[in-house]
Amino acid sequence: MAEMTSATKPEPTLSEPARSFLARQEFGLLIDGESGPAASGESLETWDPSTGLPLARIAAGGAEDIDRAVKAARRAFEGSWRSWTAYDRQALLFRAHAVMGEHFQELAEIESMDMGAPIAKTLAGKGPMQRMIGFFAAQALSVRGETTSNGFPGQVSTMTLRSPVGVVGGIIPWNGPLVAQWWILGAVLATGCTAVIKPAEDASLSVLRVAELLHEIGLPPGVLNVVTGKGSIAGEALASHDDVDRIAFTGSTETGRRIIRASAGNIKKLQLELGGKSPDIVFADADLDKAVPGAANGVFNNSGQICFAGTRVLVQRAIVDQFAERVADFSRRLRVGRSLDPHAQLGPLISERQLERVQGLIKAGIDEGADLVAGSAARAEGVGDGYFLKPTVFSNVSNDMTIAREEIFGPVMSIIPFDTAEEAIAIGNATAYGLGGGVWTRDLSTALRVVEGIQSGVMWVNCYGLIDPLTGFTGSKSSGYGAKGTGAHLDTYLQTKSVYIQA
Ligand code: NAP
Ligand code: MG
Repeated sequence: MAEMTSATKPEPTLSEPARSFLARQEFGLLIDGESGPAASGESLETWDPSTGLPLARIAAGGAEDIDRAVKAARRAFEGSWRSWTAYDRQALLFRAHAVMGEHFQELAEIESMDMGAPIAKTLAGKGPMQRMIGFFAAQALSVRGETTSNGFPGQVSTMTLRSPVGVVGGIIPWNGPLVAQWWILGAVLATGCTAVIKPAEDASLSVLRVAELLHEIGLPPGVLNVVTGKGSIAGEALASHDDVDRIAFTGSTETGRRIIRASAGNIKKLQLELGGKSPDIVFADADLDKAVPGAANGVFNNSGQICFAGTRVLVQRAIVDQFAERVADFSRRLRVGRSLDPHAQLGPLISERQLERVQGLIKAGIDEGADLVAGSAARAEGVGDGYFLKPTVFSNVSNDMTIAREEIFGPVMSIIPFDTAEEAIAIGNATAYGLGGGVWTRDLSTALRVVEGIQSGVMWVNCYGLIDPLTGFTGSKSSGYGAKGTGAHLDTYLQTKSVYIQA
């Protein structure tokens, strides 16, 4: 039977709340609790990556809008929000936990339509999101300074006080904003900071909807403002605004460098989560029944659009052919589908531009002599006009090839052979990045040697990609700095003041 074309396939339907949200079609900025157009009156078109069809128009915020949002955030920071106790803010986080849970189907559908991830994947974000909100609700009550001893004669008391750092600028990427924004929102609400969020122009809708829901449960106007628009305009204006105290940024290393430069004016505090080219190292003694799907999902999850994707799969030479064959077979069975297809495992890439970029990198892999064992640079067929690629696996890759050096942010695995653990560690570290890494082995000492040897902010042993805010993760080298999760996360939303009191 011939493959059905997209036109003959039944369209999966949206739930009523998601349909009615998307039916608005025009989305404004959310500043001081009010939705409205950009000062310039301009807006941007966004697309459904599964079909390539227009999805919505979002306001194209500029410097003037950012300034208005920062002023609203400053007023809120110095206004009644300041009188909210830690218990009040915790109660708000509990209400957020409830309302996010009640609306999760709608939120997941909006996210899938906007950025293309399969609905099964966005729905699976419910647990992680709820745990994150719960984590920050608990943290709200844990903010405290210390009474310290000191070496002064007489009656001198010393202590440290902690206070919220102020107005936080949050700049987030498109690869999963629904859950990822909570790393910022949770910390802002737990500490009593205020925020201006600049979502990615390719995926702003779930951020706008979450902000609306938070206002419905009693978030005071001005505490959370959302300015949509282009990174080079609205993002840059936020990063360089002199009344923003701290920036939380997730995105590419190149944009991270701009943010650092833009922070110099008022010496902003920064937390940067940047790109990656993480090594996932498979030893010959590994349980391949786990390592094959584990390493494949470590690359292909979210169509490879994950910062810590384990895209360089280092495989010990004795098993490299067997591994390549099995992983290619596994990849071919992954179902590529539209975001609302309940059985889809791999959705489209975010945009035409990103699709072309990834296609170019796959061609570079072929031209530089890597063996293509699954997938190709061609658009995946039978799924319609969206930005689809098949999961693509290269074997016999050497670490100096373009596909092993550049962050691809697409469903492309590079298998690199190695002989010894030292060699694997050396290859693993031969990158400017240092975000994640994995090791698959039955030998505990090998696992620990690799865990210690790889320069990264997070390592997984016989698994890949688990994240819990209680354990957290962070970047190293050109992958950025600043903790996500653990008590250290909240520290960076707080200012410490040392106090000396002579009685
Ligand atoms: P990107 O271009 O750096 O964009 C990230 C965000 O920064 C977007 O909101 C973007 O706005 C904004 N932006 C762009 N230029 C800016 C500027 N000059 N000043 C201030 N903000 C600016 O990254 P992307 O291509 O969208 O996302 C993919 C990258 O993000 C990959 O490199 C990936 O590794 C990284 N990432 C890292 C993590 C992590 O946790 N480490 C997580 C996810 C993604 P617009 O998009 O609206 O223009
Ligand atoms: Mg979109």
